Amino acid sequence: MVLTERELNEIFAHAGEAYPEEACGIVIGKPGDSNTNLVRRCGNLANQYHEDDPIRYPRDARTAYIMDPRDLLRVQSEADAKGFEFVLLYHSHPDHEAYFSETDRELALFDGEPMWPQLRYLVVSVKNGKVSYFKVFGWDSITKQFAEPSAAFQLNDQPLFQSLLRE
Ligand SMILES: [Zn+2]
Repeated sequence: MVLTERELNEIFAHAGEAYPEEACGIVIGKPGDSNTNLVRRCGNLANQYHEDDPIRYPRDARTAYIMDPRDLLRVQSEADAKGFEFVLLYHSHPDHEAYFSETDRELALFDGEPMWPQLRYLVVSVKNGKVSYFKVFGWDSITKQFAEPSAAFQLNDQPLFQSLLRE
């Protein structure tokens, strides 16, 4: 997977703007050509779901995200029209670490298997409104877990940043 600093900056801007709520979105692009990558923000409906049914949806947008299905469809149509694929899903953890939570796992799996096995998930930790660091997770078909395909990388560490993003 290749992500450029441009996409990361767009994701970080979104995460910062959404704070103290979780931001979520999708990166689409032509497989193997990171220059085509596009970041698409999606609405987070967690507050709405929580207000409508707090028993079933105990978390609001500060600790959960529910991607607006209309945005998901819109991005899917755009990807289809351009011959693009989903490259990565991202969301933020306001004032929490960048880990892949049990809820994140449930959202990504259907019947114990990933809905999109090739898809990478980026989780960005935002503390006090500022992006702190991020991690990328992918499905490991052997351990049946979402694991970090590479070590955590910090911002502003250019060589590390470049090499770890190019797998
Ligand atoms: Zn999460």
